[in-house]
Amino acid sequence: MNWQALSKHINTLLSEKNLPAIQILTAHAIQGGDTHQAYQLHTPDKNYFLKCAPKHHLPILQAEHHNLTAIQNSYTITCPTPYVTGADNSTAWLLMEFISLTQQGDDAQRGRDLAFMHHQIHSNSQPFGWFEDNFIGQNRQSNQWSNDWVQFYGQHRLQPQLEMSQLNGAPKSLYQKGIQLIERLPFWFQTYQPKASLLHGDLWSGNSAFNSEGEPVFFDPACYYGDRETDLAMSELFGGFSQQFYSGYQEIFPLDSGYPNRKKLYQLYHILNHFNLFGGAYLQQAEQYIQQLLQDSTDTQ
Ligand code: ADP
Repeated sequence: MNWQALSKHINTLLSEKNLPAIQILTAHAIQGGDTHQAYQLHTPDKNYFLKCAPKHHLPILQAEHHNLTAIQNSYTITCPTPYVTGADNSTAWLLMEFISLTQQGDDAQRGRDLAFMHHQIHSNSQPFGWFEDNFIGQNRQSNQWSNDWVQFYGQHRLQPQLEMSQLNGAPKSLYQKGIQLIERLPFWFQTYQPKASLLHGDLWSGNSAFNSEGEPVFFDPACYYGDRETDLAMSELFGGFSQQFYSGYQEIFPLDSGYPNRKKLYQLYHILNHFNLFGGAYLQQAEQYIQQLLQDSTDTQ
């Protein structure tokens, strides 16, 4: 990494936003991310967090910048402040606030914070979706605006992942059964009409922690307006959130009693995405989920 050239570029962009210039003293690589190379930058004033990736990942980092800004503007959950995003001939990067992260903190408060974000009142006419396509891992997440959640979840969440699965070697039957499932989606929404909440969108435990005061922090979001149950379902899929987290959430914004019936439906999106990102046993898991969901919708009809 040519740190001198990079800091010059960063400072040009910072000055365009009337933000103070930085002087990088040292940079330490940080482990833990799925996708990017990350660094803690030490400057005379404070530390910064720099995410880097090959140049063609610039749209992923730009989308993350927009997502973090949207969450900050909600004044609900804490996430790092994004500063500037750019790219040179080889590398794309996103500069944000550095937060000293730990796994120790108030998990009930983490649940309450998430519930505050989900509960924030938008106009009743807030549609589902987002103003641009963004990314779930490295995969594109399609986001048009829609007033119909069931249509949105079928056409913009499940269907693109099913299509991608065909390019990644999944059997045709997965696609065919998945399409059948999309046709049956109204079954899960007979007495439930979700509102459009601002979502984190990629809520596994690796994307949340606590700061040095034990306060909850969320990062690496894939925001959109959607059914809040999707964030909860993902948090349960990979684990790592305690019972206190869910109690804290329920205290502020109790879930609909039908949530357990929709949990697998919402987890399926992330399982398909994980198959499309990593392959392997996620295929069998997706097949089992689709089979089970099709079964549920016929048993009770
Ligand atoms: P990736 O997009 O590659 O998955 P993440 O955003 O998850 O990268 O970040 C990688 C790791 O860096 C995280 O697991 C977390 O421990 C740490 N991290 C993320 N954001 C910050 C930040 N703003 N300040 C300090 N550490 C961070």
